[in-house]
Amino acid sequence: MFENQYNEEMEAEVRRLEGKKRAAEAGHPEWDNACAGCGCRLDIGVELCEGCGGEVIAGIGTLHIT
Ligand SMILES: [Zn+2]
Repeated sequence: MFENQYNEEMEAEVRRLEGKKRAAEAGHPEWDNACAGCGCRLDIGVELCEGCGGEVIAGIGTLHIT
């Protein structure tokens, strides 16, 4: 059980770092996350915006900045 929680925290950290990396690659290092498809701004925890086929995670959702 402890191990599961540890893994979840590690995965959350990896997602956070990947999001930061995508944001930097999209030209917005000040963002926490960006869509891997179009580079729009996203909340942490998602990889793709809805327009790129991403899933909206309950409680997180996506953030569209136009
Ligand atoms: Zn997108």
